[in-house]
Amino acid sequence: AFEKADLLDKDSLRNVFQKFRPEAVVHFAAFAYVGESVRDPRKYYRNNVAGTLNLLDVMREYSVDKIVFSSTCATYGEPQYLPIDEKHPQKPINPYGRSKLMIEEIFRDYETAYGLKHISLRYFNAAGCSEDGAIGESHLPETHLIPLVLKAVNGELETVRVFGTDYDTPDGTCIRDYIHVEDLAAAHRLALEKLGKYNGCVNLGTGIGSSVREIITAAEKVSGWRCPVEYAPRRPGDPAKLFADNRKAGEILGWRPRYTAIEEIIETAWKWETNRKY
Ligand code: UDP
Repeated sequence: AFEKADLLDKDSLRNVFQKFRPEAVVHFAAFAYVGESVRDPRKYYRNNVAGTLNLLDVMREYSVDKIVFSSTCATYGEPQYLPIDEKHPQKPINPYGRSKLMIEEIFRDYETAYGLKHISLRYFNAAGCSEDGAIGESHLPETHLIPLVLKAVNGELETVRVFGTDYDTPDGTCIRDYIHVEDLAAAHRLALEKLGKYNGCVNLGTGIGSSVREIITAAEKVSGWRCPVEYAPRRPGDPAKLFADNRKAGEILGWRPRYTAIEEIIETAWKWETNRKY
């Protein structure tokens, strides 16, 4: 069942809790544009942090003490070493990352004081679409690399801009760890089962980095078409390389990503992009 409720409106949340009497909450709701968070931090702290505080209040009212939370590798900030494990210092460099880190810290305090059971899943770059092609990525505005590359490939966009070609990486473009949404979804199920036995945070990434150029090449191979490219300056706040140490997810959750080849991830995204419903 789908119910629409606003985290800033406690009564609408209470209605949902009253109706379904959940045992646990999987909390995905947030604003997630880094650039916008710099321009309008109020929006991010209010929605992401205050919204989560409301959710925690209503959970306590209904004696729900279990939560799985969408956190992010943006809580780490500029990497001090690679791959990034969960012990890496957390020094986010924008309000979006700070809002997610604040929530992780609130969970730790609520655990000590009220016995909250929590697992924060720190996603690297979520990518791809559901295996049946029915659920896919749809942002307005779209800012993410893979959907933009696919839109340039199919002619919806004239070009895709490559933000920076002078990074200290083998081909000069930024490296990220793209993790398939089906693998993310599987990790949430496993985390739900582990709630109560383990409290804390877990990285979700493949452990493999792909450069912007590698994404473009893979998209061309998958689609069979050329991707028109425009070279642009670096985007402020982008570290050269980010990829996960995902061993803890294996140890704690028994999780292993099934999609590790970037072409396979892009293949699912392409299936969605050519047949999208919204
Ligand atoms: N990127 C790019 N052109 C775009 C969008 C993104 O070159 O139009 C690069 C960006 O600099 C980063 C990578 O692609 O290195 C992934 O960016 P995205 O916005 O998809 O995710 P983020 O890493 O910011 O969460």
